[in-house]
Amino acid sequence: MRVRSFLPLALLATTFALAAQTPAPRPLVQRIGAALDAVPAIDNHTHLLEPSPFRPELQATAPVLLRSSNPIFVSVLKERFGVTWAASRGEDMDTEALAARKVLMERLGGEAAYWKDHLALTRTAVALVNQEWPEGTNGTTLRWVPFATTLLLPLPAESLASRDPMTRADLGRSRDALMKLLRLAGLSREPATLDAYLAFVDAQLDRWKAQGAVAVKFYDAYQRTLVFADVPRARAAALYAKGRRTALGRQDYLALQDHLARHIFLACGKKGLPVHIHTSHGGGPFLRLQEADVRNLESVLCDPRYFGTHFVLIHGGAPQHEAAAYLSANKSHVWIDLSAMPFLYARTEMVRALRIYLLFSPERTLFSTDSPGGPLVPAGAEVTHIALSRHLRECLAEALAGLVEDGVWDESRALDVGRSVLQGNARRLYGFP
Ligand SMILES: [Zn+2]
Repeated sequence: MRVRSFLPLALLATTFALAAQTPAPRPLVQRIGAALDAVPAIDNHTHLLEPSPFRPELQATAPVLLRSSNPIFVSVLKERFGVTWAASRGEDMDTEALAARKVLMERLGGEAAYWKDHLALTRTAVALVNQEWPEGTNGTTLRWVPFATTLLLPLPAESLASRDPMTRADLGRSRDALMKLLRLAGLSREPATLDAYLAFVDAQLDRWKAQGAVAVKFYDAYQRTLVFADVPRARAAALYAKGRRTALGRQDYLALQDHLARHIFLACGKKGLPVHIHTSHGGGPFLRLQEADVRNLESVLCDPRYFGTHFVLIHGGAPQHEAAAYLSANKSHVWIDLSAMPFLYARTEMVRALRIYLLFSPERTLFSTDSPGGPLVPAGAEVTHIALSRHLRECLAEALAGLVEDGVWDESRALDVGRSVLQGNARRLYGFP
């Protein structure tokens, strides 16, 4: 999830009504939850290291459960940083929480100790961290997932940028990042031919892997479409050459990107790098649901040429849960990531979605929070991570208990599935010890 908004300020809504008394969990849910509490999680998708100031004016443009007023964020803000939430306090909450965070970090003995404490608190063995550069990741507990979308922009992309201001800003950052990658590879600009650019791409994937990357992430649902057509090399090479002389129109640029993306999909399979793809709603007013629809990936996911690559459907293809679940169901190379869903959906909807994933693809469903930092929650990603880790564990226990009650599994098998979702599936996918 990338949280942006250009909508005008609307009414600030308080959502304490959501904190209405929750009934005590059923004994079966409690037993499963308690047993799974002992299992540390591998969190497949987070933004733990992404600083982003709290911007209270954006609250009313976000889904209700992604607002700072979500009771699970309110309680963690108090518990972890001693900050009392109130809509009227605005940025003061961020200032106070960040000061408390600094004190806590000093008391614990520095940044490494702070993250160790945070991961212990959330019972996280490994968190995958989405960001452009590896800074802050450590190759063990905080593992890096860089952005492959950056590699799809070898040429100026005005025809893509002109669609909306968010895409323009995103593309600007991505192009800057690509220019930096080229410079680091000893190149002053994009190579002269497509073949030479693809050689740079292959080498870049190797460099990322050597720097600790465990997967690569495509967020093209924000910048273009998840339709990746099968564009032949000769046409792509001609478009690349043309694009170096004159600006490519939108359709031509997309066709070039389609070829680049499919090249990266295949290369990642050979290099043992799983491919993460954002497949869901998203922040800001410009993401187009039809373009972000997980079913657009069918032509890649069902093509046997790509069966050697592991694809992770980030955010579970929501709202097309069942389509995503089925895309994963009968393919050993397609995985479901649960991230973002715990702050998009209330418990009832989250449990319902989990049941579908577990019925279709229990061996390839991955525990994941998304844990966004600002601008919607004071103190950033740690607050959302603590809250969403707990919340998703509770939903998982409830979904598993329901499947036991429905006679799908016995309790022992349900616990095995729970352990797999929390960490076993991710260990297999990434080859973690
Ligand atoms: Zn995300």
